Amino acid sequence: MTVSISCDSCGMPLAGAEDHALADTSIPYCIHCAPEGHLQNAAETLERFTQWTMRQEGLDYGVARERARAYLKLMPAWKDANL
Ligand SMILES: [Zn+2]
Repeated sequence: MTVSISCDSCGMPLAGAEDHALADTSIPYCIHCAPEGHLQNAAETLERFTQWTMRQEGLDYGVARERARAYLKLMPAWKDANL
């Protein structure tokens, strides 16, 4: 079995089964990106990352959204997505 070392959607390290969605190591996403075992849609993920970036870096919404979009574009799950 192949075990991902980081989430294909957000890059969060997946150190153990409990970090994977549904604690299933065959799922290459973390519990935050795929709380029900399948990836949330692009709009939901971008919004979640925007909120997270605002909190982490104290940025305004528009700036945080651009930062979040640029970051997600680097991820395997979103590189071809229309974010
Ligand atoms: Zn994730």
